[in-house]
Amino acid sequence: MFVGVVGAGQLGRMMALDGYRLGIRFRFYESKPGAPGAELAELIQGDYDDQDALGWFARGLDCITYEFENIPSESMDFLAKRHPVYPSPGALEVSQERLKEKNFLNELGVPTAPYAAIDSEADLPAAMAKSGTPAIIKSRRLGYDGKGQARVDDASTAAAAWDSIGNVPAISEGYVAFDRELSIVAVRNIAGEIAYYPLTENVHKAGILRLSIAPALAADEALQAQAEDYAKRILEKLDYVGVLAIEFFEKEGELIANELAPRVHNSGHWTIEGAETSQFENHLRAICGLPLGSTRTCGSSAMINLIGDLPALEKVHATPGAHLHLYNKSPRPGRKLGHVTLRENSREALLATLPQLLAVVCQGEVTLEDLDLR
Ligand code: AMP
Repeated sequence: MFVGVVGAGQLGRMMALDGYRLGIRFRFYESKPGAPGAELAELIQGDYDDQDALGWFARGLDCITYEFENIPSESMDFLAKRHPVYPSPGALEVSQERLKEKNFLNELGVPTAPYAAIDSEADLPAAMAKSGTPAIIKSRRLGYDGKGQARVDDASTAAAAWDSIGNVPAISEGYVAFDRELSIVAVRNIAGEIAYYPLTENVHKAGILRLSIAPALAADEALQAQAEDYAKRILEKLDYVGVLAIEFFEKEGELIANELAPRVHNSGHWTIEGAETSQFENHLRAICGLPLGSTRTCGSSAMINLIGDLPALEKVHATPGAHLHLYNKSPRPGRKLGHVTLRENSREALLATLPQLLAVVCQGEVTLEDLDLR
């Protein structure tokens, strides 16, 4: 199989690392030079709307996938006329636009925070009344890692908040005083077979994922079943092929969906060492028409992102059970440079060794206190 991947960041890089074992060949498409995937496979560089370059990229491929969501829909349609694109351009469209995404989730009976559309200043009073305060005004498009968002504590500051994100089409969303953040990574293949990884607990700081624990501590079977039911509804409605991640807030034992990611996801990186089959391999199996691999976990895992600057790597190397992944990106504030996964046989052992690694990697910014240790 010859797979084309739109986007050559760390997600594409890890996909290729796993895919080579399966005998899959790769070609990347990327707008920026020096992308992490470039060391692994041929890379066509071009803007995401450059159909000449996209045409070169598509030559001879068997199928196309993506690791980057902000691809213009015309470009996806252009590629889909040449080869199968997984997940389908329709699935991408739903997750590219927050209003469409929330409407879609609600139509399927998947709960979200209350929300309302903002297209003009005149919409603000009604939107704030619908979402309630505190609220977060979020741009509908091109948002990731908490960008394009502004918090509103009092409706009188809504206009200033909308100004601060550039008065772009937005939604106002009620602030959820959640107990914790969870995500589920699920995968569906061409034959319609579905597999789920266990719920993962995620700790964000300033909108960026810092730490994931899997399986989530104290997530009982009912909560897992709830997450799987929501994932199944979404996967089947979209006739989805590939990995899908759903981010949830957990509040009083209920799951409230925040966001869909139609791709392999940062909160699934622990599966490389912590599950029988990684999310990357299962995504490739799904899109290449293969049966899915087992999502059974191997003990308990914690994944810590390396953000902005690298920590003392010799200390990471010296931590038993720690697996280092570097993306070969240059340091920059807020940038994901790599991650470390710590895997232990039990959650007790994981919680015993994690503080030491967190101290090395996060220097006190993230601690066990950030987790829900009920
Ligand atoms: P998003 O870009 O929507 O994934 O938001 C990034 C992070 O901001 C989330 O992971 C939460 O930590 C926080 N956040 C986003 N929306 C809400 C909300 N409605 N209520 C509370 N926290 C939120």
